[in-house]
Amino acid sequence: MQERKQVCFLKIDVMGVQFDNVTMEEAMERTATLLKTPGADYCVTPNAEIVYEAMQDASFARLLNEAALVLPDGAGVVLGSKILGTPLKGKVAGIEFADALMGYLAENGKTLYLLGGKPGIAELAAENLQKKHPGLMVCGTADGYFKEEQAVVEKINEAKPEVLFVCLGAPKQEKFMKAHQKELEVKFMIGLGGSLDGFAGTVKRAPRWMIRLNLEWLYRLIKEPWRLGRMMRLPKFVLACKRYARKR
Ligand code: UDP
Repeated sequence: MQERKQVCFLKIDVMGVQFDNVTMEEAMERTATLLKTPGADYCVTPNAEIVYEAMQDASFARLLNEAALVLPDGAGVVLGSKILGTPLKGKVAGIEFADALMGYLAENGKTLYLLGGKPGIAELAAENLQKKHPGLMVCGTADGYFKEEQAVVEKINEAKPEVLFVCLGAPKQEKFMKAHQKELEVKFMIGLGGSLDGFAGTVKRAPRWMIRLNLEWLYRLIKEPWRLGRMMRLPKFVLACKRYARKR
C-alpha cells in the first residue's frame, strides 16, 4: 500500500483559493517530504491575477485547491489576505521557490525535467541553471508548443525525472498537471508560468529595488505593455477583496 502524505499546514482562503500559510523554508520542508513519498504531487503558485481568474471559473479554482502545495506568488495575494482579515505569513514567489528547490536538488542528487517555453528556451535555461547550481541534474527538456500531450508525457517518463517544472502559463500548466498526475512518474511537479524565459535570460526580472518595493508588476508592464488587460485583474481583485470583507 502506498504511504500517505500527511504534512498539513494551515490553509488560508483568499477569495476561494486555499493557500498554504508557509514561509519559503516551510515550503521547502514540505516539498522535501513530498519528494520522499510516492505519487506525483503538484504545486501551484497563483498570483492575484490568477486568483481573480479562479473567481470566475470554479473548475480552475478546484484545480488550484487540489494541489499538494499552494504558494502565494506575489504581494497582491498577501495584500488580499490582509484585507480579508486572515493575513498570510508572506509571499513565496514561484521563481524564488524554484531557485531554492534547485539548490536542494543539486545537493541531494535529484533529477529535474524542464517543460515549456518556445523551442530552445528550456535548453538555454538548463545550461544557465546548471552553471548557477553546480551538480544540478537536468535529465531532459521539451518546449511547450506540442500538439500531442501523450507523447510529451511519455518523453518525460522516459527521462525518469524526480521533479518536473511545468512552464506553460496558467491555466494550461495546471490542467496539464492534473490531467496527467496519475501517469507522470515524477515525485513532484510545479507550475511556474514564464520562469523558463527568466532562467534562459530572454526575459529579465525587475531590478532588486523594484522587487523589494513590490513594483515587479510595473516593470513587467513597462517591458510588456500588452499585459495591461491581464494586469487590470489586480485592482479588480483588490476591490473584490474589499467588497467581500465589508459584506462579512
Ligand atoms: N507557453 C508554452 N506553451 C503554450 C503557451 C505558453 O510553453 O502553449 C509558455 C510561454 O512561452 C511562456 C510561458 O508559457 O514561457 C507563459 O509565460 P507568462 O509570463 O505569460 O506566464 P505567467 O508567468 O504570467 O503565468
